[in-house]
Amino acid sequence: MKKWFESLSGSQKIWFGTALILIFAAVLSTFIIVPSKTKVPEDFFTVQKTIRQMAPKLGVTGKALARELGLKITVSKSVPVSQLGVKQDKLNSSVEHLQSHRDASSKYILYSALVLGAIIFLLRIGIPDKADVKSRKLWYPSMFYISFLVISVLFAGFILGKSPNPMEGIVKVFKAMVGLYPDVMSKILAFVFFSVLSITANKILCGWACPMGSMQELLFFIPGLKKIRRYKIPFIFSNSIRILLFIIMFMLILGVIGGKPGFVLYHHLNAFDIFGFHFDSLSILITTIAVLILSFFIYRPFCAFICPFGLYSWILEQFSFARVRVDHDACTDCGACSRVCPTQSAAAKVAKKAIQPDCFSCTRCLNVCPHNAIRYTTPLKKNSKLPNKSES
Ligand code: SF4
Ligand code: SF4
Repeated sequence: MKKWFESLSGSQKIWFGTALILIFAAVLSTFIIVPSKTKVPEDFFTVQKTIRQMAPKLGVTGKALARELGLKITVSKSVPVSQLGVKQDKLNSSVEHLQSHRDASSKYILYSALVLGAIIFLLRIGIPDKADVKSRKLWYPSMFYISFLVISVLFAGFILGKSPNPMEGIVKVFKAMVGLYPDVMSKILAFVFFSVLSITANKILCGWACPMGSMQELLFFIPGLKKIRRYKIPFIFSNSIRILLFIIMFMLILGVIGGKPGFVLYHHLNAFDIFGFHFDSLSILITTIAVLILSFFIYRPFCAFICPFGLYSWILEQFSFARVRVDHDACTDCGACSRVCPTQSAAAKVAKKAIQPDCFSCTRCLNVCPHNAIRYTTPLKKNSKLPNKSES
């Protein structure tokens, strides 16, 4: 990292400083900006209250609270919930779950800063201006990436809690569609926010800022397990499961399957609960433990098999402005990038495959090519080359 920093040009050092200030300011803002929440006295939520009285205090519709309490969404909202058979314990756990989704607005600032800092690194400072191909091992120092991952897990995860997060961003739009939220527009805006961040650079939000993605990436980074984890899950298999889950979620939430509109499948698989230190159900606890253990051996299992935002951002990455691109004139198909890539993405790019697996902009492939044929670029900078293009 020291050698890399010394080879940066003057303007790159300014960019480096800008990225640091950006991240520092965003982290600081998480302490300064206190989310404005209406304080509801703890003893307000009792089974003597009606759904109509309690739902607004939780920022959801009566339908959503009814669903949360395990009732039909068509149930009467004007009678005390005790008369609907709801016990105080059930009410308490439902309230706790709904309150855990209250937004920490400073997280939006943090997500933006992490994505912007990552883009600066990938496009402007990862390769020092004074570098040549022989020194490529120094490019894109992994310490930089690891620092982002740690900040994401700590601040966008454990300190600020699970909400908002990209997965919720997409799920809440579907929930709003079936009337589970009174303020549809704020859910759409959050979804647009996450979409914009994702499309600027290849899956950059997932790769560099999502706390769940970062946690899996950090576990995968642990040295000493490389031999065990060489196997890459075939993309066709993981993506088929991810698509299937999404279709089932869609049918369940509309009530086409199960006949209970508003049933949210991902609530039962939501490993983001780990950031609230509270698991809403046994299935979530099992999912989370499985994800954490599998992350040592498989690259980002939650992203690959479950996350609906992972599926969505995989579609978006086909249109990303900045991304990993292969110069096919310079590429000799030596396989160096494919070997270090934790997904099958680099291999698919080299082979010019029409359907390419997820690329998380993880940088692993960017400093291994002896011919500098694989680069992180925009269409504007597509053919930028180093002075010393081939290693002698
Ligand atoms: S795919 Fe992974 S990184 Fe992306 S939002 Fe889902 S959990 Fe986060
Ligand atoms: S190693 Fe693979 S996932 Fe990582 S940036 Fe390169 S192509 Fe993308």
